Amino acid sequence: MHKTQLGMHLVWDRERTLALYIGGGVCSCLLPHGSPMVRTGPAVLAPFRLDNAVLMASVDHSADALRRALRTIPDFPKPGIQFQDITPLLADPNLLARAADVLAAPFADSGITQVVGIESRGFILAPLIARQLDAGFVPVRKEGKLPHDTIATSYELEYGTDTVEVHADALDADDCVLIHDDVIATGGTAAATAHLVAQTDAALAGFSFLIALTDLNGRDALPADAPVHTVLPVAGA
Ligand code: AMP
Repeated sequence: MHKTQLGMHLVWDRERTLALYIGGGVCSCLLPHGSPMVRTGPAVLAPFRLDNAVLMASVDHSADALRRALRTIPDFPKPGIQFQDITPLLADPNLLARAADVLAAPFADSGITQVVGIESRGFILAPLIARQLDAGFVPVRKEGKLPHDTIATSYELEYGTDTVEVHADALDADDCVLIHDDVIATGGTAAATAHLVAQTDAALAGFSFLIALTDLNGRDALPADAPVHTVLPVAGA
C-alpha cells in the first residue's frame, strides 16, 4: 500500500480497479480504471484523475494486504482444523472497507437487491457488501433461530445433517440474490443456502466468499452456472 503526500492510501488490484482510502478509513471508494470521478460513501470528492505512470509506482495488491491480516489457528475448534481467523482484518478500518469493496465489486452491475449472509460469520461482511450494492441484507440461520415462518433445507455433514432456514417472506420474484459467507470449505452450507433461494421466486446472481479452502473443492458443490467470486484462496487448511 502506498501512502500519498495527501495521506491517501492507493491500492491497485488484479481486477484493475482502484481503491482509495483516506485518513484512517473515514472515506473509501472503488472506481473502475480510468474513471474521472472518485465516488465515496459518506462524502464525494472533487473530480479526480490519476496518472497511470504514477499509479503503477504505487502498486500493492490489496488481496495481499487482506491476506496478511488473516490468522490461522491450528486445531480450533477441534483437532485437525486450521481455523481461518478474520478478526484482525475486521479490526482494521481500511481493511474492513476494502474487504467489502472487493467482495461486492464483481457484482456491481448485477442488479443485486438482497445479499444473503450465512450464520454466523457471513453476517459480518454481508451487510457491508449490501451497502456497497445498494441492496438489503437477508440472514440465513441455523434451525430454530428465525422468529417468523421459515423455509428450511437440510444438508449432509461428515457426521449427521444440519439445517438452515430463511424467512419465507424474505425473498420474492423481484429479488436478485448474492450469497455471502466468510469461508467456503466443502461448500455444503453455501449449496444448502442456494437451495433455499431456489425455493423462493428470487434469482440467484452468484456467490462471494472472502476465503476459499481450495483443497476442499467447495466450488464443485455449488451450481455450475452461478458465478463464484473468492478473494483469498488458502491451500492446506
Ligand atoms: P462448508 O459448509 O464446509 O463450506 O463450511 C463453511 C462454513 O464453515 C462457513 O460458515 C465457515 O465460517 C466455516 N468454516 C469451515 N471451515 C473453516 C475454517 N477452516 N476456518 C474458519 N471457518 C471455517
